[in-house]
Amino acid sequence: SGWDAGLVPQPGFATLGERFFTRLPPAPLPDPVLIDFSEEAGTMLGLDRQAAQAQDFVEVFTGNRIPSWADPLATVYSGHQFGVWAGQLGDGRALRLAEVATADGPLEVQLKGAGRTPYSRMADGRAVLRSSIREFLCSEAMAGLGIPTSRALCITGSNAPVRREEIETAAVVTRLAPSFIRFGHFEHFGARDDIAALRQLADFVIDRFYPQCRAAAQPYAALLREVTVRTADLMADWQAVGFCHGVMNTDNMSILGLTIDYGPFGFLDGFNANHICNHSDTQGRYAYQQQPQIGFWNLHCLAQAMLPLLLDPHGTAAESDDESRQEAAIALAHESLGAFRERYAAAFLARYRAKLGLATTQDNDEQLLAEMFGMLHAQRIDYTLFFRNLAAISSTDDSQDAPVRDLFLDRSAWQAWAASYRQRLQLEHSVDEARSTAMRAVNPKYILRNHLAEIAIRRARENDFSEVARLRQLLSRPFDEQPDMAHYAALPPDWAGGLEVSCSS
Ligand code: AMP
Ligand code: MG
Ligand code: MG
Repeated sequence: SGWDAGLVPQPGFATLGERFFTRLPPAPLPDPVLIDFSEEAGTMLGLDRQAAQAQDFVEVFTGNRIPSWADPLATVYSGHQFGVWAGQLGDGRALRLAEVATADGPLEVQLKGAGRTPYSRMADGRAVLRSSIREFLCSEAMAGLGIPTSRALCITGSNAPVRREEIETAAVVTRLAPSFIRFGHFEHFGARDDIAALRQLADFVIDRFYPQCRAAAQPYAALLREVTVRTADLMADWQAVGFCHGVMNTDNMSILGLTIDYGPFGFLDGFNANHICNHSDTQGRYAYQQQPQIGFWNLHCLAQAMLPLLLDPHGTAAESDDESRQEAAIALAHESLGAFRERYAAAFLARYRAKLGLATTQDNDEQLLAEMFGMLHAQRIDYTLFFRNLAAISSTDDSQDAPVRDLFLDRSAWQAWAASYRQRLQLEHSVDEARSTAMRAVNPKYILRNHLAEIAIRRARENDFSEVARLRQLLSRPFDEQPDMAHYAALPPDWAGGLEVSCSS
């Protein structure tokens, strides 16, 4: 056929050797159909819509035909799930189909839902249509928002039954990322005291993704610091856009600071600092306002796993139980992790100043933000509409307030806060038009609200995939007005409050 002639395989992760993975083919699904294809993600592989229409495209990205450029394998990792050590996990239903060279570096091509692997434990290796549509759309929506994420090339579906709470049908999402290495990969070899493998993994990650660390006096400590910084930035990105991941287990944390493993995620509708998007998270461990703290906790798990490398950076020490060296390694870990607080605080303030259209830094900014969060939380104000509509107000009077004021039942709270906000704008001589343009560039009009995904899922179950495509396109430009799509920016309908998403996917 030739649509895939440009895909140049490279071994990449496979060079690490058999301790890290098991080679196996995907398990086919009957009569697969293409549900949607992301042109934007396609460009990363040089694949366009015409390629997606090739006869065997669907077969390849369902796992029914193994192309010449493929080298399918499942990787092994471990992790902490809901704060508890879970031991060995691994790619239980995601299969690295291939790793290819692109102009922007290596790219792993994963099939999620491609069948059982040695790491499936008791589960079936499949993913259902519902959660696959959610992952497909959210990957592309996050990219549209400018938030680091794995990408989604396409989604295919089959009528093959999959048992969850009910019988559903199977789907496969093709995910793309420079690497899907997780904190859990490090934890796996750390827990086994396999220091040679740990070193191999860290060297692989440094050489390919953090080459600047190689020159540092302590390359592994430098790596830990870089991952800490990226994770802090990612947490600030999530908080600023109101994204709740839902399952921040260490096996779902990317070593590249990408958002990965979309499951029971959710975007805030009405602002609730304690919002829990995952119905299975009964304790609220991964509630919205917990996320930065959990990111930091997860980094501690990574640091713990990396301790043997910090202890013996050159692999030359004869005795690794020298107490003073252990203390030095722990101090080094703390130093690297210490970057988190400052970085997160700065990233948080920078994101929210931008969201409020503030060009300067003032002493009272944190208070202005605290009062804003209090007001939004008390009245459960729609988080996305608040910032988007705030862009339209005037810094001099309340004549343009209606779109944001109308979100409030208790208008006095709004009026009090708006007065401080206007004062703050006047302090920096804010120019309304420039500010509103800048605010609309960082405050999305469109996000993947649960009910929007739900409507697309219901249609897709009836073999109408047009809503999936429409949402993907809409959310690829979330900051643009797109006036004929304005109804997608509206408050969620009443039935949205009853939607539940859980770990079952
Ligand atoms: P998750 O919560 O989706 O990140 O999954 C946690 C672990 O369970 C990972 O190792 C997954 O590969 C595995 N897993 C989840 N669902 C399935 C499934 N349906 N079949 C096999 N493994 C699964
Ligand atoms: Mg996972
Ligand atoms: Mg999941």
